[in-house]
Amino acid sequence: MLGMMQDWPLLCHKVIDHAATYHGQREVVSRSVEGPFHRTNYAQVRGRAMQLAQRLDRDGYGVGDRIATMAWNTWRHLETWYGILGVGSIYHTLNPRLFPDQIAWIMNDAEDRVLFVDLTFVKLVEVIAPKVPSLERIVILTDDAHMPETSLQNVVSYESYIAEADGDFAWVDLDERTAAGMCYTSGTTGDPKGVVYTHRSNVLHAMAALQPDMLNLSSRDRLMPVVPLFHANGWSTAFSGPMSGCAMVMPGAGMDGASIYEILTQEKVTITAAVPTIWLMLLQHMEKHGGSLPDLKRVVIGGSACPRAITQAFQDTYGVEVIHAWGMTEMSPLGTICSVKPEYAHLEGADKLDLQVKQGHPPFTVEMKITDDENQELPWDAKTFGRLKVRGPAVSSSYYKGRGAEQFDAENWFDTGDVAHVDPHGYMQITDRAKDVIKSGGEWISSIEIENLAVGHPEVAEAAVIGVAHPKWDERPLLVIVVKEGQSPSKQSLLEFLEGKIAHWWMPNDVVFVDEIPHTATGKIQKTALREQLRDYAFPID
Ligand code: AMP
Repeated sequence: MLGMMQDWPLLCHKVIDHAATYHGQREVVSRSVEGPFHRTNYAQVRGRAMQLAQRLDRDGYGVGDRIATMAWNTWRHLETWYGILGVGSIYHTLNPRLFPDQIAWIMNDAEDRVLFVDLTFVKLVEVIAPKVPSLERIVILTDDAHMPETSLQNVVSYESYIAEADGDFAWVDLDERTAAGMCYTSGTTGDPKGVVYTHRSNVLHAMAALQPDMLNLSSRDRLMPVVPLFHANGWSTAFSGPMSGCAMVMPGAGMDGASIYEILTQEKVTITAAVPTIWLMLLQHMEKHGGSLPDLKRVVIGGSACPRAITQAFQDTYGVEVIHAWGMTEMSPLGTICSVKPEYAHLEGADKLDLQVKQGHPPFTVEMKITDDENQELPWDAKTFGRLKVRGPAVSSSYYKGRGAEQFDAENWFDTGDVAHVDPHGYMQITDRAKDVIKSGGEWISSIEIENLAVGHPEVAEAAVIGVAHPKWDERPLLVIVVKEGQSPSKQSLLEFLEGKIAHWWMPNDVVFVDEIPHTATGKIQKTALREQLRDYAFPID
């Protein structure tokens, strides 16, 4: 017997309907790309998204069309997502920090027909657009008064584009498994791979993301996604925010410490999310200029491992709780969050920080396991590390055009490419990317664990650890350091700082100082480039 409940498809545009109906006056505040702060609410965001959907429909865009955005987090970008979704098209976020040729490659692969772009990136798009024959129209996310001089063809301002529609439109009805969004993985090796979300996966993922043991979002929150919507599906904030009815604070292009501090305090943000590099900038700004964060309750940190020193500074100095998160573009993206279960409620001080270095435990909708290279499951003893595999309704089942098929097995387990261990309470800790793990004498050394400790040295701005060839051990760790301005720690003091905190055989064989550590377009340490930069390095002979 089948159950007798309604078949109510999980569609993304129902999320903005909910926000507009039950939280319609809730603020959406943005630092506009033009400069001034802009204030709107969910009711207006939905109304304008509806105008956009109507206009796209009139121009012949609909189900299955790929429509690209290259934009900061603002109210217009949010409206654009919902307008595209509401007509059945697919939002395709582009990362402007990639090389122009990579962006053109990605746009051609997706065959984007329209591009919504911020003023900041018009010059970049002038280089890219001629290489993308599928592109028919470019909408600049501004009004007529701010339209720039440009060599681009078929260009229109967003405000005049939507002004031609009155909003008397009905969202398109769809199967919930219809493609909703696309985001390409950063592709540090080989071509980028397209991840294609469904309406259903986005809705289920947002429902999981706002639970108490995840982001714990409510209508009383003021959420600021500093993480751009173009990074890994914007960590779901464009859906989990409106679904919870919280106010949204959109930081626009202001990504430096001073701008983040200004908007956090002025707009009384209660929860915010970004990669560690952003928080390092904020903390360094506050160390220099002073300040406090009286309204901020939680800061979500993920995208790369959150160093212990950042957690400690937020919690001990500013009274803000750190939520360490792990995920991937392929997982919509949230996979685990390090919230405190009752088993660990007694932890305080250094012991609690030890827990928070872990990436945490998954919500309902994510299953995980660790295996060895022969796919045998490994024990959850907080020591044994292996390949981290996941599955669930918001995890990719394949990549666009069938690329990377070897990462998926017959039982739907997706090999994340991360190496991790899990403790008996289900807390996962990433020890490395599979390709970055250091293999010393047949044993594995976690580069991330050493980096996290080294960055806690008071004179260190950033740290990376890579494996370098060694005649006896195969590979040994090399510690690469960027020092804080005006500091000059000795190699010895750095190594002494690590002594006793890691196993003796994990101790780096040497330390090198560099001016800069290369980063990927999403702010992660780019180990391939760093290894390349140091390819002539050899360990001193013992
Ligand atoms: P992306 O799809 O660009 O977000 O990259 C996903 C990858 O980022 C993961 O597979 C991890 O290697 C890394 N990552 C994300 N969050 C964390 C974290 N909290 N700690 C360590 N690595 C992370």
